[in-house]
Amino acid sequence: MNTDNDIWIREVGTRDGLQSIQTQFSTANKLEWIRLEAAAGIPEIEVGSFVPPKLLPQMADTAEVVDGAVMVNDLTVSVLVPNLRGAQAGMASGAHLINFPLSVSEAHSEANLRKPVSAAIEDFANVMNYRREHPEHAHVRIGVGLATAFGCTISGQVALADVLRAAEKVTALAPDEIAVADTVGYGNPAQCRTIFREILAMAGDIPVAAHFHDTRGLGLANVDAALEVGVRRFDSSLGGLGGCPYAPGASGNVVTDDLVFMLEAMGLTTGVDLNKLLVARQFMEQHLSDEPTFGAIANAGLPKGFAPAMQRA
Ligand SMILES: [Zn+2]
Repeated sequence: MNTDNDIWIREVGTRDGLQSIQTQFSTANKLEWIRLEAAAGIPEIEVGSFVPPKLLPQMADTAEVVDGAVMVNDLTVSVLVPNLRGAQAGMASGAHLINFPLSVSEAHSEANLRKPVSAAIEDFANVMNYRREHPEHAHVRIGVGLATAFGCTISGQVALADVLRAAEKVTALAPDEIAVADTVGYGNPAQCRTIFREILAMAGDIPVAAHFHDTRGLGLANVDAALEVGVRRFDSSLGGLGGCPYAPGASGNVVTDDLVFMLEAMGLTTGVDLNKLLVARQFMEQHLSDEPTFGAIANAGLPKGFAPAMQRA
């Protein structure tokens, strides 16, 4: 694992992207996508989720995808797990990291999980306990995701106090990572600075990641704001694959290719080779049916004289 770079990028297109579109990728095509992106230098890929196949048939082959992905050198393989059962499957799968999302919006938590935020946090505590009670899984890292931290489609605004209360409770459980997610693309840079400043201070040594959607065009601006206050881990999706069920025509996550370009242009190393990344993007696009992809660099090309950031020895 290369941890020498300034920024750690987690590709989530193979999970967040593929779960939001109609086209179903075969296991072989998912794995080829993963191999191409790993070859470009992406250090971590969220390769799928352990959710009931009835809910998300696109993710039904996640165990096989993990099997293939863990064979790729220098790649951290992560999966999303929505509950204890999924976490058990995730830990048994051989994935290096499992990510457990919970919604910090009461309205969203009630609507989607039919439980208050406090009960979802208890579920997460049970996942942490399960690992403690099963030493064979001690090496699996467990991350927690604070979803809808920047707003939610049901209640609109989510109070900062609610976000911080949830963050405080999950921090006390000592997860291996805390990701803060703008699930529906409501966030703005000022809000990012406020939320991440508080959560970074709270998290101490626990790494904090930012998960932004570019639904309203502020994805990279939000990345820049989070960078400014010290965030060094970002989720993104190749070609912005994903979209948003509530905003037809809107893009998905922050575009991995544009994110890498911005960071490298700013002098921050990512370990990612942009040209190889665009090869991975081409492969991914070839296997889509009607879904749009996004991103400026793929269309406009790199600026004349562009040089990636130099890795400090
Ligand atoms: Zn997302």
